[in-house]
Amino acid sequence: MVSAIRVIVEATIPDYWYNILPDLPKPLPPPINPATKEPINPKDLEIIFPKELIKQEMSNERWIPIPKEIKEAYRLWRPTPLYRAYNLESYLKTPAKIYYKYEGVSPPGSHKSNTAIAQAYYNYKEGIENLTTETGAGQWGSALAFACHMFGLKARIYMVRSSYDQKPYRRILMQLWNADVYASPSNNTKYGKSLLEKDPTNPGSLGIAISEAIEDAITHEKTKYSLGSVLNHVLLHQTVIGQEAKQQIEYLDDYPDMIVGCIGGGSSFSGLFWPFYYDVVSKKAKKNIEFIAVEPTAAPSITKGVYIYDHGDTARLTPLIKMYTLGHDFIPPPIHAGGLRYHGKAPTLCLLANEGIVKTRAYNQLEVFNAASLFFKLEGILPAPEPAHAIKAVIDEAIKCRQTGEEKTILFLLCGHGYFDIKAYQDYLENKLLPYEYPEEEVKKSIERLYELYPWLKNINF
Ligand SMILES: *Cc1c(COP(=O)(O)O)cnc(C)c1O
Repeated sequence: MVSAIRVIVEATIPDYWYNILPDLPKPLPPPINPATKEPINPKDLEIIFPKELIKQEMSNERWIPIPKEIKEAYRLWRPTPLYRAYNLESYLKTPAKIYYKYEGVSPPGSHKSNTAIAQAYYNYKEGIENLTTETGAGQWGSALAFACHMFGLKARIYMVRSSYDQKPYRRILMQLWNADVYASPSNNTKYGKSLLEKDPTNPGSLGIAISEAIEDAITHEKTKYSLGSVLNHVLLHQTVIGQEAKQQIEYLDDYPDMIVGCIGGGSSFSGLFWPFYYDVVSKKAKKNIEFIAVEPTAAPSITKGVYIYDHGDTARLTPLIKMYTLGHDFIPPPIHAGGLRYHGKAPTLCLLANEGIVKTRAYNQLEVFNAASLFFKLEGILPAPEPAHAIKAVIDEAIKCRQTGEEKTILFLLCGHGYFDIKAYQDYLENKLLPYEYPEEEVKKSIERLYELYPWLKNINF
């Protein structure tokens, strides 16, 4: 009996990535160079990114072929399984059907290797020998270290010093994959050195680590920089997730009414929902799907942020990007979902949220860890703190279905496991987690500072 199946592993790894740009309801506002106040020239990006990725970033091709070398690398852990959460459903006494696509089976334990492999491959094809990047708790760093090792590149990873010291486990994975990992600020760059001269105990931040990784890339031969979320090319590499999930859920004769995922930059959630969004725009969708993105109340970019042009990083090295933002000088509260502590979100996701096509909600980390520990007890997989946000939303929706009697099919993304986040669960058990809410007032102040910096932003017309 097909409907009793708890896990589907079979699916065909897709031959193409899906690019949403030609299917957006409006053209995406272009990235702007703050010096010229004009859209950036793609050539300017060539000092940090390989040509093929810049081409994908701007591409209007709907389907981008996945090279066979990348498919071969994906085969190590793809297709990933789709589960039916029977135990959670019966515990909640809900008529809803709950499915989750699980990306924690990848070597570094999250969805991030889907883009890391692609990025390492194109750099390798263009003769690059080293890739630099930044990492917080090490999810992106470990994915890139793994991917570089697959294609014989050297990864140089700037890891926020406080994480380097306090969260060593993913650092050790990176080192096993032969990456060089530097505690940032480091003595490896001019910028890092200047900070250490002022304060040798500087604990670092993602903004500092980004600046170091970019400096390293632009001052060395055959070296480029790599980013793990937010950019169009990163999001489209993640669409293998949704394409597989569609095959798997259709095999069960089902189709989602609702798709849920957590958003840090928005890449994993986009990877799941874009292929279903394509069904909607091409009038192939079997249902009227709701898309729900979940963020922390501690970093509520879409629920409390403003949809304007802002920098993607604290050091203001990136172009200005139109997105929901809390302000680029946002200092994230110390919540455990490190991957969701970003001030902005992917421009495509922000456009869809602004059009009302994607709905957003926010939860605090206490309610999120309650949901995660319930999920662990019932379903047997320890979720990373980030997708635990999606689980909280799914539980709320399933309870609503119990009340209304609706037999909705809910699909969510479990984008990574939490076995390296044990410290967070320890703090949870010891009642040390605070239900942090980022104040609206702080967002206002940040945006005022942004307008002081660039008064012309108020009149910009893109
Ligand atoms: C990095 C990360 C995120 C946040 O990034 P997105 O681009 O929004 O996917 C979420 N979950 C996990 C497990 C991550 O590693």
